[in-house]
Amino acid sequence: MEDIDIAIIGGGPAGLTAGIYAARARRRTVLFEGGVLGGQIAISGAVENYPGFPDGIEGPDLSLAMHRQAERFGMETRYEPVTALRPDPAGGFVVGTDGGEAHARAVVFTAGAEHNRLGVPGEDALTGRGVSYCATCDAAFFRGQDVVVVGGGDAAVEEALFTTRYADRVYLVHRRDALRAQAVLQERAFAEPKIEMVWDTVVTDIRGEDGVTGVRLHHLPDDAQRELPVTGVFIFIGSTPNTHLLRGLVPLDAGGHALVNEWMETEHPGLFAAGDVRAQAARQIVSSAGDGATAAIRADHFLDGGG
Ligand code: NAP
Repeated sequence: MEDIDIAIIGGGPAGLTAGIYAARARRRTVLFEGGVLGGQIAISGAVENYPGFPDGIEGPDLSLAMHRQAERFGMETRYEPVTALRPDPAGGFVVGTDGGEAHARAVVFTAGAEHNRLGVPGEDALTGRGVSYCATCDAAFFRGQDVVVVGGGDAAVEEALFTTRYADRVYLVHRRDALRAQAVLQERAFAEPKIEMVWDTVVTDIRGEDGVTGVRLHHLPDDAQRELPVTGVFIFIGSTPNTHLLRGLVPLDAGGHALVNEWMETEHPGLFAAGDVRAQAARQIVSSAGDGATAAIRADHFLDGGG
């Protein structure tokens, strides 16, 4: 079985930064990524709040730069999803992929999070045919059309703003009467004439056969229902951490986030969790990168027998 010092599971900002630190500490470091390098930032547009880039940087460019930096110090990358993670009775962990198994002395778990689904009729059938979870990827298909964006957080507002580059009208449908998004994004959304706020409202149905033709809206305060003709529905209602591999191994909170201490240590010695998978995170690129650095520094210390 292949021997790894530090296995990193997930190649978003937390994992890539852990890779930079672990490889630079001269540990044999292997990062496993089953999807796209960069995770959620690989499908983001311009990142405006990552320090050091006063004019912003495109999400994919940032993740590729982080990856290049980690590989420069010797991190290896395996483009395979990890399907199993178990403690080795002799110490360390067994990391399993479809390609085989490897032994890791320490694991930094940075598998990120997946977008949530609304769970309404039409959503599954029309995903990819008008229903999307990535405006940066799909907004260009809606040039001159009317679309709905669902949610009130940073992602919904940022992606609604991006969608106005193409769509004629963007209805931002939020279940409350106040946005959760940061102030600078709210100001931009309120100043954007193409965005129409639809407050206190939820989408109950997505209509269409081969493509989206409209949504059914439920205005919560007075129970009023109405149809809104749109051809696109972009959904940004939060995310769920990819922690199924940790279930039974370490304690998780009610939302499925791994409980860690300030060193990103889980209860299981040698197993660290960083970024969107861990509880009480700020869920920003910079804080995920910070988590990854902390986890790798502590994993290095652990391998020296200090853990
Ligand atoms: P979020 O902050 O959890 O916001 C989710 C939004 O969806 C909330 O407004 C929530 O409503 C709404 N919502 C949740 N479930 C819903 C449902 N079933 N039906 C209708 N609406 C529902 O998620 P996010 O926007 O994806 O952001 C996640 C994290 O990433 C945050 O920490 C955010 O700051 C960060 N982020 C940062 C940036 C940036 O800095 N530029 C960009 C994107 C994301 P309520 O408000 O009523 O709860």
